[in-house]
Amino acid sequence: MSSGKIHFTGHEKIRFNVPPFTGKEYEYIRQAVDNKKICGDGSFTKRAGEWFEKRTGTKKCLMTTSCTHATELAALLAQIGPGDEVIMPSFTFVSTANAFVLRGAVPVFVDIRPDTMNIDETLIEAAITEKTKAIVPVHYAGVSCEMDTILDIAKRHNLFVIEDAAQGVMASYKGKPLGAIGDFGCYSFHETKNYSMGEGGALLIQDSAYIEKAEIYREKGTDRSKYYRGQVDKYRWQEFGSSYLPSELNVAYLYAQLEEAEKINEWRLARWQEYWSLLAPLAQKGKIELPTVPEGCVHNAHMFYIKTAEERERAALIDFLEARDIVAVYHYVPLHSAPAGMKYGRMSGEDVYTTKESERLLRLPMYYGLTADEVAFVAEKVKEFYGE
Ligand SMILES: *Cc1c(COP(=O)(O)O)cnc(C)c1O
Repeated sequence: MSSGKIHFTGHEKIRFNVPPFTGKEYEYIRQAVDNKKICGDGSFTKRAGEWFEKRTGTKKCLMTTSCTHATELAALLAQIGPGDEVIMPSFTFVSTANAFVLRGAVPVFVDIRPDTMNIDETLIEAAITEKTKAIVPVHYAGVSCEMDTILDIAKRHNLFVIEDAAQGVMASYKGKPLGAIGDFGCYSFHETKNYSMGEGGALLIQDSAYIEKAEIYREKGTDRSKYYRGQVDKYRWQEFGSSYLPSELNVAYLYAQLEEAEKINEWRLARWQEYWSLLAPLAQKGKIELPTVPEGCVHNAHMFYIKTAEERERAALIDFLEARDIVAVYHYVPLHSAPAGMKYGRMSGEDVYTTKESERLLRLPMYYGLTADEVAFVAEKVKEFYGE
């Protein structure tokens, strides 16, 4: 072994993530090349957008270069500007906040619920000021936020709801697909997500009044989308904008997985369920905690996490697993405690759970292709760590 480490197991290292791959990706990329159309908005991009529109019942789905960029587009469409406030959890990826900070807005962080790690909907109203423009629920681990409450608050205060559904593709809340519940929804197809094109994303738009603007912002401020459809005879600079459309080559890679979306979802859910069953005894003894999926939420097994007693125990468990060739990771240094979070944002109310729970959370290997045997092995090693 090149690492010089003792390998207890005789198996390959169990990686934390392996990008999804179904086998058809090469063929579809070849087709894109053969079509002699590898820039944005070719046939794969069109088909992928339509796939999500049909699947989620959304008026328009624009494929983007990332979820980060989809969120930036949503911020532009909601006309977020300097001094505006946007309510979001602190326990999230930096892009949730960055998209609004780039517009000069202030992220206002609200504590999370310890059961789902999602924004605590009961604390949102107290964070609203006359500057508040939007609420950004993040559906952590593909488990929905309490959307009925959030939509009700947004309606009463006339706020946009921009869903960070980066992790929520194929998951739902009371039968409604995540990303298609708020005004705008943002998906990610980063390598670490359930469906991937390396780097990529999508913006879901519910109200058709925003579609034309969104197409213009996404195409360098031009009406090239209309031009491609033959609706205008030349395209011109209409508005400010940037380049948020992905290459056909990337979307071709993704499209292969969309065709197998159900199969990928079922695979992940099966592994998730196995982890849950195998680790339930440890949870019953109070040694770890397992994730909660509230009634009405159908998740997509984006991740399987456990919670240790506290941070030091988590570090010891990571080392224990690493020595047995298992990669387990944690994430999100709460944004309000990070340098940029302190500079650009503020916390509303107390940080009761955000920091404490983020220090306990540990993600176990989860990807399309992970086997039942591997899950059993990981679960066995976690139990061994706890003396079982
Ligand atoms: C992955 C992720 C993002 C960013 O997605 P990109 O496609 O990499 O820009 C944003 N928010 C959350 C919650 C994520 O998990």
